[in-house]
Amino acid sequence: MRYILFFIFILPSICNAQHIKRVEPPHWYTGMANNNLQLMLYGQNIGKLLPQVMHKGIKIKDILPVPNRNYMILDLEISPDAEAKSFDILLRGRKGIVARQRYELRERRSKSNQRATFSSKDAIYLITPDRFANGDPENDEIKGMKEGLDRTNEGGRHGGDIQGIIDNLDYIKEMGFTAIWINPLTENDQSEWSYHGYATTDYYKVDRRYGSNEDYVRLAKLAKEKGLGIIMDQIANHCGHQHWWMKDPPTKDWFNYQGKEFTGTNHRKHSLLDPYVAPEDREIMTHGWFVKTMPDLNQRNSILSTYLIQNSIWWIEYADLYGIRQDTYSYPFKEFMTAWTCAIDTEYPGFNIVGEEWVDDPGVIAYWQRGKENPDGYTSCLKSIMDFPMNMVLADAINEPEVWGKGLIKLYEMIAKDYHYADPMELVIMADNHDMSRIYERLEGNFENFKIAMSYLLTMRGIPQIYYGTEILMEHPISDSHGQIRSDFPGGWKGDQINGFTNRGLNSDQKDAKGFLRTLLNWRKNSAAIHDGKLMHYEPQQGIYVYFRYSDTETVMVVINKNEEPLELDLSRFERFIPEPMMAKDIIRNTSTSMDNTTTLSLKQKGAY
Ligand code: CA
Repeated sequence: MRYILFFIFILPSICNAQHIKRVEPPHWYTGMANNNLQLMLYGQNIGKLLPQVMHKGIKIKDILPVPNRNYMILDLEISPDAEAKSFDILLRGRKGIVARQRYELRERRSKSNQRATFSSKDAIYLITPDRFANGDPENDEIKGMKEGLDRTNEGGRHGGDIQGIIDNLDYIKEMGFTAIWINPLTENDQSEWSYHGYATTDYYKVDRRYGSNEDYVRLAKLAKEKGLGIIMDQIANHCGHQHWWMKDPPTKDWFNYQGKEFTGTNHRKHSLLDPYVAPEDREIMTHGWFVKTMPDLNQRNSILSTYLIQNSIWWIEYADLYGIRQDTYSYPFKEFMTAWTCAIDTEYPGFNIVGEEWVDDPGVIAYWQRGKENPDGYTSCLKSIMDFPMNMVLADAINEPEVWGKGLIKLYEMIAKDYHYADPMELVIMADNHDMSRIYERLEGNFENFKIAMSYLLTMRGIPQIYYGTEILMEHPISDSHGQIRSDFPGGWKGDQINGFTNRGLNSDQKDAKGFLRTLLNWRKNSAAIHDGKLMHYEPQQGIYVYFRYSDTETVMVVINKNEEPLELDLSRFERFIPEPMMAKDIIRNTSTSMDNTTTLSLKQKGAY
C-alpha cells in the first residue's frame, strides 16, 4: 500500500476573506476600443495598501483618491496585445502581501465590434420576468434574501424567472417577435416591491430569484439561436436604497442629497430645455431622488460615471446583448448620458439603445436623440427613444367619436410632429408597457378597437414593442394598479387552469387576438416597406384614416375604418399609389382584390385593412 502525504501550506499573511469583498467589474476583456479599465476593490481598510497587478500587459496608471479607505479604485491601462488569462492582483502592506485577488482578462466575443442590434425590422416582446413564467420553483425563495414568495400580494414576488422565459422562447418566436426586452434582472435585494427590478442592489449580478448570471447568458444564447435578441433594461439614474453602497459610500458625493433629508425629483423634464427655467427647478429635476427607496446617483462624480459606463459595456460583452433599454433617461446628469451613449457607441458602433422619456411632447423627446441640433448645443449618441407622445393619443384616437378635434385626427397630427426628430424611424412605439394601463383595458374591452390599435402599431414607422399578455387580451380591474397591470401570465405557473401558451381555457376573442397578432407579426418580419419604407398619410375623413408605407419593391396601404356600417372607399384620392389597376392582398384576411383608382374599396365593417 502506498501512502500519499499531503502538505498543506498556510500563508498566514494572505487572507482575502477579511480584505477584498468585491471587485468590480468582476472580469474584463481584451481588444476593447477603450484600453482603460477602472477597477473598484472593496474591503476593510484596503485603501491604504499598495496594489500590484501580475499581468505584463496591464499597467497601473493611477490609484484614484477616495476618502473612504474601504475602497481602492485602480485606473489600469491594458495593452492592445495583452493576453487573455487569469492573474493575481496583490495588495501589499508594510509586512508584505496582505491580500491576493484572482482576476481575469477574457477574449472579446467578436474581434469585429459590429454587433447585431435592434431596428425597425424588429418587433419587441416586453416581459416582466417575475410575472411571466415560473420555470424553476426551487429559486422562488432564496435564503438570506430579504423578500420571499407571496403570490397573494400583487406587489410581492410571484416566482417567475429566467428559466420560465427560456422554456417559452419557442412561443415568443412563433408569435413572430424578434427581440425581447426584459424588465431588470439585476439583483434587487430590497425588503419589499423588489419584483419590478428598478431598485438595483448589485450592478453585476442577476437576482438569484431569477437565476444566475450564467442562466442569463444561456438565455441570450438560446434566444439568439431562435432569432430573438435580448434587450437589457438598465438604470443609471438610481439604485435601490438597500444597495451595499448606501451603508458605506466611496465618497461624500456618490449620491445626490447624500446624508441629507429626502428630496424627490420634480419630474419636470421640460426644465432641461426651458429657456426661462429657474436653475433651482432644473437642479431638483436632476438631483432629486426618483422615490425614497431609490437614491439618486451623482454621475458628476467621474469614478461613478466610469463605473456605470463600464457596467453597461460589461453586460453587452458578457451576455451578448442585442440592445439596451435605459430607464428614466432624462433624470441623470445629462452630460453623463452623452458620455455613456457615446462610450458604448465607440465600443460597438451602431449598437442600439432606447431611452425612456415619458412626456407627451415630441419636442422634448427629440432633444435626446442623436443627430438632433438643439438650441442649447446639447448633443447625444442615443439612437432610439420611446414614443410616449404617440402612445398617449393612441387609445383616445381609436375610442373617441369622429368629431372636430377628436378621434383619428389626434394620431394624424401627432405623427405630423415627426419634424422634431432627427430620425423618427428609430423610435420605439408601443400601445402600453409595464407602467400604464394595458391597451385592452384602455380600449374598454372592444376587440375591434384592439385589432385597429395592433394594426397601427405593427405598420407605423418605428420599432413596435408589445407587452406580454397583450396577445391574450390581459385585463386588470383597477386601471392604475401596477401590481395588476403586471399580473401573472396564465399558464406560466404549475397548476394554472388557463394556459395562454397552449390556448387551454382561452375564450374565442383571446384565441383570435393571438392569431391576429401572429399573422401580422410574422408578415411584418419580411416586409421591406415596413422595415425601411417611407410613410405618407392622408388626412382622416369620415372616420377613415389611410396611410402608405412604401419602398422600391413594396407598397403597403393601411386603412383604418371606424365606421360600423358598410361603405365604399373612393380610391381616386390615392392615385399616386394606385396609378394603374393592380392586385392587392389583404394581409389580415388573406384575400386578394383588384384595385383601380377609378373604383372603390368595399369596407364591410369597422376595422383595419
Ligand atoms: Ca422561480
